[in-house]
Formats: sequence, structure tokens, C-alpha cells
Amino acid sequence: MMKHFVYGPVPSRRLGRSLGVDLVPYKVCSYDCIYCQLGRTKEKTIERKPYIAVERILEQLCQKLKEGARADYITVAGSGEPTLNSQTGALIHDIKKHTEIPVAVLTNGSLLGDSEVRESIMEADVVLPSLDAHDQEGFETINRPHPEIKFETMVEGLIDFRKKYPGEIWLEVFILDGINATEADAIQFKHWIERVNPQKIHINTAVRPSAETYARQVSPEKMSRFCKILGEKAEVIAPYKDLEKHERRADVEEDLLDLLARRPCTLDDISSGLSVHKNEILKYIGALVKNHTIEMVKKDSLVYYQRGPDKRNKKI
Ligand code: SF4
Repeated sequence: MMKHFVYGPVPSRRLGRSLGVDLVPYKVCSYDCIYCQLGRTKEKTIERKPYIAVERILEQLCQKLKEGARADYITVAGSGEPTLNSQTGALIHDIKKHTEIPVAVLTNGSLLGDSEVRESIMEADVVLPSLDAHDQEGFETINRPHPEIKFETMVEGLIDFRKKYPGEIWLEVFILDGINATEADAIQFKHWIERVNPQKIHINTAVRPSAETYARQVSPEKMSRFCKILGEKAEVIAPYKDLEKHERRADVEEDLLDLLARRPCTLDDISSGLSVHKNEILKYIGALVKNHTIEMVKKDSLVYYQRGPDKRNKKI
């Protein structure tokens, strides 16, 4: 079966219609965030290499554009940390030769301490990095980084990047109840964020199923208080409502429920079974778990999704 490295366009709260591009295989990442919606990291690494050849990605992207795909952004992101692909810079450069659609990079920012990585994303129009902790201890608790990545090196890399980068930086701060969401935390974050000085600050929380069940969402009221402390550039972007019914495609939802009625599946199983990208599947899952149509169960270290007891045919 042909591997798809380009998906969408999908609706994105931060980027409008986003045409996504995968630069690394599923869960190759320098972090293993407790809130990750894609499950636990399979390969935690800081090794940069051509995980996926950019020629293959570019070929698929050009095909999509030729078929008439319209998007507000082409988003370099996917199922792990995109800057781990050592050809990120070449890909962004080539995309810009083929289209005028602006390029966004969704990154955890962990490798920005390396000047080569900073250089590789300079041509993007907007970079959306993360900052989920304000000290080493929080960094280890929330992001569970590769042992060679230190909090201060990561954030100083981000500050350095901001000084030379001509595009916009929209910083995401992911907060979790009982972990990094108090007003005292917000004051500590503010210290670092003022040094980064991004154009926008997006505050998010775990409204969809996370890698760890103890990564719990923050209430909308607490989110607004946290946001206020960070100042007027900060806004809440947590999709508390998830995909509205009219935004979800009936055929995808039907196929998903059909599959889960036959057997419990991991996110990976669903994505390959339906040929729909994991990020897109998560939006459906979020809404269906919330209205109790499906449920999550943990077995060993894997998260499975299944229909409610009355609609199920088989057990794991
Ligand atoms: S949330 Fe992003 S940075 Fe964190 S583990 Fe998942 S893919 Fe990696």
C-alpha cells in the first residue's frame, strides 16, 4: 500500500485550512509528552536524518496541488518532530518554488539550540513552537525529553531563533490540571515568554485523549485566568467543543464506528484501516468519546478504542 505523507486539507483552529505534510514516521520524536494525542513515543531520538525522502513528499504534495487542493497553509508537522528530518530546510525551499501557499512549521522546538536546525526553518512563513514548562523539573515531567535536551538550551535556542527569524512565531503553551496550570506557573511562564517575544501565544489543554490518563484538562475558567496573566497576545485555542457535527464527514464517522464494532483498535489501526491521517481521526474520536458512543481502554501500554458495551461484537 502506498504511504501517504500529505494529508488534508483539514480544518485547524490555528491555521484555517491546513494541508499537512509528514516528515518523520509515526512517533519518531525527541519528546514523549504526557499529553500527546498520538500515544507514547516509539523512537525517542535527537538523531537528524532523512527519515522520509523529501522527493517523495514533494511529489505527493505537487500531485495534491495539481488536483486543486486549496489551503490557507501547508503545514510541516505530522506524527512526530519534523525538524528531526535533516532535509526539512530543502523541503521548505522546494515547496516555496512550487506554490504561493504560505508554509507553517509545527515543532516542539527542542532542537532549536542547534544553529543548523534554526537555519533549516528560516524560510517558513510562520513557526509554531511549544513551551510547556518553565523549568527543568516541569520539562521532564511534561515533555519527558531525550536525556540530552536540557530546558535552558531549548528555550535559549528559541530566543536566538526569534532574533533572526523574519517570519511570525506563534507559541503554544499546553497546560494540564494539577501540573503546570496555576497562576504562579503563569507568572513563571511569563518570564520566559517575554524573552521569546512571540507574535501570538496560544494556550491549549488536553481536551482529547492523552498518552497518560493523569494528563487532565484545565477548565475554561482557569484557562482564561492563566491567559490574562500572560497578557493581550495570549488566547485560548483549546478545542473544547471539538469538531462540530456539521464539520465531521458522515462517511468517515460511519466507517470508524463500523470498524470499532468489529474489534477494538489503536489509533494506528484506525488510521491505516481507513486511510485517514491520525490527526484527523483524533478529532472524530474526541467527539465520540465525549458523547460516550465509543470508549477508551488501556491494555499493556496501548490505548484501544471500542464501541460502547451494547454495540460491541468482540473483546480484545
Ligand atoms: S506532543 Fe508532539 S512533541 Fe510531544 S510527544 Fe507528541 S509528537 Fe512529540
